[in-house]
Amino acid sequence: MTARIIDGKIIAAELRERVAGEVARVKRDHDLTPGLAVVLVGNDPASEVYVRSKHKQTQAAGMASFEHMLPADVAQADLLALIAKLNGDPAVHGILVQLPLPKGLDTEKIIAAIDPAKDVDGLHPNNAGRLAGGLPALSPCTPLGCIILAKSVHASLEGMNALVIGRSNLVGRPLVQLLLNENATVTIAHSRSRDLAKLCAGADLLFAAVGKPEMVRASWIKPGATVIDVGINRLPGEGGKARLVGDVAYQEALEVAGAITPVPGGVGQMTVACLLVNTLRAACAIKGLAAPGV
Ligand code: NAP
Repeated sequence: MTARIIDGKIIAAELRERVAGEVARVKRDHDLTPGLAVVLVGNDPASEVYVRSKHKQTQAAGMASFEHMLPADVAQADLLALIAKLNGDPAVHGILVQLPLPKGLDTEKIIAAIDPAKDVDGLHPNNAGRLAGGLPALSPCTPLGCIILAKSVHASLEGMNALVIGRSNLVGRPLVQLLLNENATVTIAHSRSRDLAKLCAGADLLFAAVGKPEMVRASWIKPGATVIDVGINRLPGEGGKARLVGDVAYQEALEVAGAITPVPGGVGQMTVACLLVNTLRAACAIKGLAAPGV
């Protein structure tokens, strides 16, 4: 058996197209141009690549994109002042502070300063709490993308046994809540879990968000399971170039899984597309419009 490959590139492109359609509609019917502000502190090369891609994709969807580049040694008070300004700016409906922040800045305080209505990264405690309470919330983009990918294989996740490996605030925890909203039966595993292989063997849906290259082996995977690999790990490749691999041993997993996301070309593609969805949703909510059709 060879698994079906879940093509994040195609699914993300379709999602971006639907977002662009809805953006055109709210512009035309409600004179609303959703706006996303991205704040980058310092010059971490990986973060710069992400921010550039966010800027390009935001503009391509017809939204306004505002970039704020601050030096790595920016004072916390100055960063908080910028966030306060963006909170009060009617042209800005989404605020994203690119993480990780340089040492010396208090990430928790900075995220808590973002207006929850504009918290398109879904990391503000209000949004995390609302999500955990089963209330409507802006949810983190990567887990939203994972759900869309799983639902590209299964129209409904109801009653399925889902295993999430990893319990970070960015991925694992919100993913568990989103899976519960889909009526899946969820198990969450982490570094202290016992017998991960046995936990995997019972999972119809397996989500790996660990950050350990190819940790999940084919022999752990339930035959026919859907595998969503969130991990992005850089290994030394040919000619001194980095090679990206996921948390799942992809080549061998292809022989056992029913469907699987590749790395790259899987979950990573969905994150920015879901950021656009969140910005559109935030803009509509702030303007008092019905939720958009994406
Ligand atoms: P993180 O904050 O480092 O969390 C890793 C989680 O994995 C923790 O909960 C940790 O458990 C658990 N873990 C570590 N070793 C384990 C083991 N041997 N067995 C079981 N669980 C183990 O990482 P993250 O931010 O969630 O990111 C996870 C991966 O996803 C990374 O590779 C990251 O680059 C990638 N990522 C990709 C995207 C995307 O757009 N595709 C977005 C975000 C992250 P404890 O809680 O017990 O320490």
